[in-house]
Amino acid sequence: MTKSTFDPGLQGELTPYIRDIPDFPKEGIVFKDITPLLASPSAFNRSLDGFDAVCTEDVGAVVGIESRGFIFGAALAARKRLPFVPARKPGKLPADTVRVEYTLEYGTDALEMHRDALRKGQKVLIVDDLLATGGTAKACGELVRQLGAEVAAYAFVVDLAFLGGAAKLAPTPVHTLIRYE
Ligand code: AMP
Repeated sequence: MTKSTFDPGLQGELTPYIRDIPDFPKEGIVFKDITPLLASPSAFNRSLDGFDAVCTEDVGAVVGIESRGFIFGAALAARKRLPFVPARKPGKLPADTVRVEYTLEYGTDALEMHRDALRKGQKVLIVDDLLATGGTAKACGELVRQLGAEVAAYAFVVDLAFLGGAAKLAPTPVHTLIRYE
């Protein structure tokens, strides 16, 4: 089985492109803003190099989580010539969907995917910009499994490791580019 990975050299290269925005979207949250990374073609490409390295041959599709997971996931899928599948917030997808609900700090949220988006037994890489508590990514994994597909691994640009999200996704491998302890 593929192990979780983390490359300290790549972290050193990419960390300067993550901007801390205190108290956004609400007081007490330090928002990790990835737009400086996107604005640098070399840093953006290096982040895709990091994802490329963990997108193993058995991966048959890339699933991106709305909305910043679309940016990295779609770019990776195009680079690897793999199908890209969006996991969207409720009510956004036009065709027949499957849905999973998950708990937030206050209330619940949900993710949906088209019912015909993945094949049975297909292995997928789930991509998002940031892993916090892991609730969103775990829900996305459940969605993939509802369609009979398998989660080969997860890949995130940023891991807020002190929140323990990776443990929630175990035993599925979790690949992260920048880790905050
Ligand atoms: P969680 O479900 O707790 O792992 O939260 C992950 C989702 O929330 C991802 O889609 C992130 O984009 C977003 N998110 C959570 N915390 C932050 C943060 N501090 N900065 C930026 N995005 C965040």
